[in-house]
Amino acid sequence: MPQAPAVIGNLVESALGRPARVLDVRRPAPGFIEWELHAAAPPGGWRPGHEVQFRVAPTLGRRYTVRTVGGPDLERIGILAATDASGPGTEWIRRLRAGDRMTLLAGRHRPLRETGTRRLYLGDGCALGTIDAYVQDGAGHVVAVEVPADSVAALAARRPRYHFLPATGAPGDALRSWLERAVGDDVFAELDGAVLLGHAQSLQQQRRALVDSRNLPRRAITTRPYWATGKEGL
Ligand SMILES: Cc1cc2nc3c(=O)[nH]c(=O)nc-3n(C[C@H](O)[C@H](O)[C@H](O)COP(=O)(O)OP(=O)(O)OC[C@H]3O[C@@H](n4cnc5c(N)ncnc54)[C@H](O)[C@@H]3O)c2cc1C
Repeated sequence: MPQAPAVIGNLVESALGRPARVLDVRRPAPGFIEWELHAAAPPGGWRPGHEVQFRVAPTLGRRYTVRTVGGPDLERIGILAATDASGPGTEWIRRLRAGDRMTLLAGRHRPLRETGTRRLYLGDGCALGTIDAYVQDGAGHVVAVEVPADSVAALAARRPRYHFLPATGAPGDALRSWLERAVGDDVFAELDGAVLLGHAQSLQQQRRALVDSRNLPRRAITTRPYWATGKEGL
């Protein structure tokens, strides 16, 4: 529901709405905002990787992903957002303050389909929270994330196993160059699955590179577009 008449938004909200309160807002690195909410859990409870939606305006919804779940009642959730987009969703996030109340939309958690046990995770900044949610300690997986150059040091300090690639040129360029070099590495021969997240047009190139290099069959690769050039909200 990235864009819908307000009356439809109200109907969806009455079915899936969860009251929430902002507990804390942080800036863990340039270009990123992380916030914690206390939010009533949907059926089945909150899970890391849970997809949620915020009504950032009466007719506009934007999707985000639960990165962490905690608190004594497991109703304390953390979300990490990249601020590259500068659309109404990002502007809404920039205005968040501790104590703000809102309604977020969430149903039962439907995890991403993941194949194999030693996976490759690729994404850009807006996928970092999701990758954190799925990778947990990172052991055995290969993770590469394209992020603004000035955020690399702060992000890498907290995630030493990840490869953080400074964004250069068009979205996906840094990941494409890295992938071209990495597909021949021994560690790639041991991979049996991949999860590609973020910029829609880049995901298609990355999947083609993995399949053409015979590192992975197409069925072992999961893709989830989070945004697309020329499109508002997905
Ligand atoms: C299932 C799902 C889960 C998601 N989880 C997260 C999450 O946890 N954290 C997070 O940060 N984002 C997440 N996203 C992505 C986020 O919803 C989009 O980036 C969203 O479009 C931002 O809304 P906006 O109103 O700021 O920009 P929009 O109005 O949607 O777009 C404005 C312009 O910015 C461009 N744009 C949109 N997103 C980006 C981007 N990330 N980088 C560069 N340009 C962009 C668009 O192409 C458009 O030109 C998720 C998306 C989906 C579909």
